[in-house]
Amino acid sequence: NSNDMQIEFASNSLNESFARVAVAAFLSQLDPTVDELYDVKMAVSEAVTNSIIHGYDADPNRTIWIRCAYSDRLVTIEVKDEGKGIKNIDEAMQALFTTSEEDERAGLGFTVMQSMMDQVVVESEVGKGTKVTMTK
Ligand code: ATP
Ligand code: MG
Repeated sequence: NSNDMQIEFASNSLNESFARVAVAAFLSQLDPTVDELYDVKMAVSEAVTNSIIHGYDADPNRTIWIRCAYSDRLVTIEVKDEGKGIKNIDEAMQALFTTSEEDERAGLGFTVMQSMMDQVVVESEVGKGTKVTMTK
């Protein structure tokens, strides 16, 4: 029992909810619990928000890619941008680390992804972009 899908969409913040709903709609094929779906939606939101805000500095006209696949009940979700990339991934993933000067950023996005999903792997290259792969 396996299936997969890919979507690409503009880095417009309106698409944060689109991305979360699209992934949830696809994964509803697995008959997830409300809690499972909630976790996945939260994790996708955090990753997409990061691509928009950090990767693309809030430019709404760039592109974000999501790939979502499952095999039996193992779910893999990739969120990818071709934005500015992350200099130090270990540091970026630490709780409370943020490069943002806005007060609304707590530096907890990766921490949320890690608590909602079983595994979070970040690949990134400065000037090339970032890919976050999450499994549950
Ligand atoms: P919060 O998510 O709590 O609003 P935050 O986005 O700063 O705050 P994280 O989501 O944990 O916190 O990300 C930590 C840091 O990693 C960011 O401040 C940013 O510097 C970097 N980062 C994360 N995702 C990306 C990305 N897609 N492209 C470039 N930099 C990123
Ligand atoms: Mg974040």
